[in-house]
Amino acid sequence: MEMTGLQIFKYLPGGKKDTVANCKKCGCSTCMAFALKLAKQNIEIEKCPYASDDLRQKYLQSAKHPQKTVKIADLNIGGENVLYRHEKTFINRTVLAVIVDCANLDYKEKLERISKFSIKGVNEILMVELIILKNSSNVSLDLPVRTITYEELTLLNIDFIENNEFHLTKDYLISTRKKAVLEKDDKYSKPVCVYLKSNDLYETCAYASYYICKYANMLIFEEFDEAMFSTLLTLRQNIFTDPQKPLQVESALYEFNNPDKDSIVFLTTNFALTFFAVANELENLDVPSYLVVIPADGMSVLTAWSAEKFTAGVVAKTLDKLEIRNKLNTRKIIIPGLLAHTLDELKDAVPDFDFVVGTNEASAIGEFVRNINK
Ligand code: SF4
Repeated sequence: MEMTGLQIFKYLPGGKKDTVANCKKCGCSTCMAFALKLAKQNIEIEKCPYASDDLRQKYLQSAKHPQKTVKIADLNIGGENVLYRHEKTFINRTVLAVIVDCANLDYKEKLERISKFSIKGVNEILMVELIILKNSSNVSLDLPVRTITYEELTLLNIDFIENNEFHLTKDYLISTRKKAVLEKDDKYSKPVCVYLKSNDLYETCAYASYYICKYANMLIFEEFDEAMFSTLLTLRQNIFTDPQKPLQVESALYEFNNPDKDSIVFLTTNFALTFFAVANELENLDVPSYLVVIPADGMSVLTAWSAEKFTAGVVAKTLDKLEIRNKLNTRKIIIPGLLAHTLDELKDAVPDFDFVVGTNEASAIGEFVRNINK
């Protein structure tokens, strides 16, 4: 585990109430300031001439990175330093690679299917990111997906294992990550790659799902299947989302069911969950509509308001930035019911628009629209 500033401070002259305490030779005003910087690895321990060998040893061990980072083309794998993402975050997503043997008659068809495959995830297009080519020396390829040869793969400083028995693979992945993170044992610092050989897609998908969660840095598949990769890439996006950064969508004017300049307009914040809840309802309405999304650092409606991210000023600026007046004839905007108390401020800040209080819950939007259309 990494040492905290307080733990470091106890070993410094300041913590021991030594006569040289707070001497400033390290460039920090106090020993505590130095300790806090050191804990964040923003200063070298050598800057303090009074740091004891004991502290040096303890600190260097605690600051050591548990898992090595390995580059494959422009992808990074490994570099993880926690067991659970809520402790900090996971760093590099499990790479999902497909192996293609160019000695097989159907290799071109397989490459084409992999190259064409993509699905829309939150804020990104999810696709296969690595193809491993076997027997490709006489084959000329121009693919939109990055490739490496099987020979190049085997030269990487990675721990390769085959998924022969699920419980053995699972136990290996867990114990290796624990040894790396908790004990910082160099023997377990290589990223781990699992080669999935099963032809049963359901079984492969189930195993791969587990290994993405715990703790494969890379998975290699012999089979490619669109449904399986849709499942695994979606799961991976969820697992590797940084819990410290709320998922957000772009601030923009979104369209539903081919609206024209007079269609109904809703407004919400850019918190992804809120956006998709509202967007889902608007998509399923039998009327065309727009959704204006306000930039609010990915906060939900009330949180954004209490953090002063949703203010009348921000709404006014967003309407200008998105050129709503040029794009639409409508001058009526439906705001979330939870923001009813901001109505007067909105009307003052944007006097040429009429703001109407909508529903508290996205699920009530359908009924709300039916009522105003009566
Ligand atoms: Fe404290 Fe060492 Fe910095 Fe002096 S050089 S202030 S003793 S940490």
